[in-house]
Amino acid sequence: MNIGKITKVSGPLIEAEGLTDANIYDVVEVSKDKLIGEIIEMRGDVASIQVYEETTGIGPGDEVRSTGRPLSVELGPGMLERMYDGIQRPLEKLEMLAGNFLEKGVTAPALDREKLWDFEPLAKVGDDVVAGDILGTVEETTVITHKVMVPYGISGKLKDIKAGEFTVADTIAVVETEDGDKEINMIQYWPVRQGRPIKEKIDPNEPLITGQRVIDTFFPVAKGGTAAIPGPFGSGKTVVQHQIAKYADADIVIYVGCGERGNEMTDVLNEFPELVDPKTGESIMKRTVLIANTSNMPVAAREASIYTGITLAEYYRDMGYNVAMMADSTSRWAEALREMSGRLEEMPGDEGYPAYLASRVADFYERAGKVRVLGNREDIGTLSVIGAVSPPGGDMSEPVTQATLRIVKVFWGLDYDLSYQRHFPAINWLNSYSLYQDKMDKFIDGNVDEEFSTMRKRAMSLLQQESGLLEVVRLVGRDALSDDDKLKLNVTKSIREDYLQQNAFHDVDTYCSLAKQDKMLGIILYNYDKCLEALSKGVEIKQIEGLDVNESISRLKLISEDNKERFDEIRSEIDSAISKLIKEA
Ligand code: ADP
Ligand code: MG
Repeated sequence: MNIGKITKVSGPLIEAEGLTDANIYDVVEVSKDKLIGEIIEMRGDVASIQVYEETTGIGPGDEVRSTGRPLSVELGPGMLERMYDGIQRPLEKLEMLAGNFLEKGVTAPALDREKLWDFEPLAKVGDDVVAGDILGTVEETTVITHKVMVPYGISGKLKDIKAGEFTVADTIAVVETEDGDKEINMIQYWPVRQGRPIKEKIDPNEPLITGQRVIDTFFPVAKGGTAAIPGPFGSGKTVVQHQIAKYADADIVIYVGCGERGNEMTDVLNEFPELVDPKTGESIMKRTVLIANTSNMPVAAREASIYTGITLAEYYRDMGYNVAMMADSTSRWAEALREMSGRLEEMPGDEGYPAYLASRVADFYERAGKVRVLGNREDIGTLSVIGAVSPPGGDMSEPVTQATLRIVKVFWGLDYDLSYQRHFPAINWLNSYSLYQDKMDKFIDGNVDEEFSTMRKRAMSLLQQESGLLEVVRLVGRDALSDDDKLKLNVTKSIREDYLQQNAFHDVDTYCSLAKQDKMLGIILYNYDKCLEALSKGVEIKQIEGLDVNESISRLKLISEDNKERFDEIRSEIDSAISKLIKEA
């Protein structure tokens, strides 16, 4: 039987018996309202089902019908620029802004069935095709070409291929397979809890350039890499995620908001369409899919949302694109997991989270990577995953943060004290790390400036020495320091304030190219060397501290990207100011 009867309702979890033919992870329709649910446990013929909608009004005796399919998404043209809930039901902007979500049980298709797409074939009749081969393309938006691929599980000789205007549901090709002819349209289905297959993973060796100095210079993430941003409430997790979504050099962005505050998604909705992608001059929404879950949405939908998001991301990766996925915050997802586990009366692990928390976190991040994609082609795609984590009270020893840090390769630790001092991004440079650093150094030294990694290492070493010196200052006062050490504290202050701090809300400062990062850091360290030289020639530290050029250095970040001459001017200012002091000494 694939029809059962409800025996128990407990919030988003219901129990039903009589589903003898159903399997774990099958999607079910609950009651006459056809609420969508998913079987998350089977004991004999008793199924525990998490329901993705409000279960008020549902009770024992109501029918549950198994669809025999796992929770899946529809993949095809028309996802970009859209907004979905955690199980890929389309949300309209107005509904989101007003906070009214879809009526119960309404299942609008994820992909528009009416819209016509201009399909341009690439494959030819007679071609031998396998899963992942590109049949043809449609212009999904003005900036992204959607590659229509042979779905997984199909291979054979192409018997027919069309050209012209079609809806996603129209047949655009016919493949003669061993089990007969298969008609192919532009919709693929994929079960969200299962990664899409690839040929092989390869080592990520290029940075995902975010335009955020502290990240790109000191703690870079690779294209195809994983990063976590843990931090207490208000420390800037969401702002960092937004900055990356806006400026990172990814082709496609999938933004999953499991916001603690409903208005965070509203900010995204108001802001993103207005923002212009510096690469294309078009709205960033042309390459973005939003998945929205606010705190007033059912907990189970939140649990599904990161899988929905990463499946969409894998699909665009399979086309050969660089995809970046943001999840803000994965703690809300883990809490949903904990709530369902509690209702299932499973044995609780640390802080009530289920024992399988760590493996779920690992399975999720392992879907990131740089890969050779499926099909008879050489394309490489990347999927970078950046997850925010909100440890309660900022306590990083809690289970979600710990499980995440064991698996991700980059850690951007947000610091309450820094955000309190309004040092933003509040990424603590002393405990954050990137395990991609060596590879990224090679790339940046080879593509931007061969001195870059040397400068980066020197700046970090100065920052590390600073904390020791500040301790001395606290104990015995600044006057007890040598002039060399005083100068060192001046340069580290300059690195912190003029370089690491970056205002996300300033027109120019919000984004900083690698070329500009290179110029800025170069000048700060050049100035330091010149000042050291002056000290060694008898100039007094007071005189160095009084130079006007310090003011120019503090304004480096505000120099616009195309004003290259200004950087050279500042170098000459430094040269002449220092030689003047040396002459006078
Ligand atoms: P969280 O998501 O960790 O709770 P938010 O990202 O919402 O924190 O950041 C809280 C506030 O901190 C923002 O509203 C903003 O005022 C400030 N902030 C964070 N990052 C920056 C930044 N890079 N530049 C300027 N202000 C920032
Ligand atoms: Mg936030």
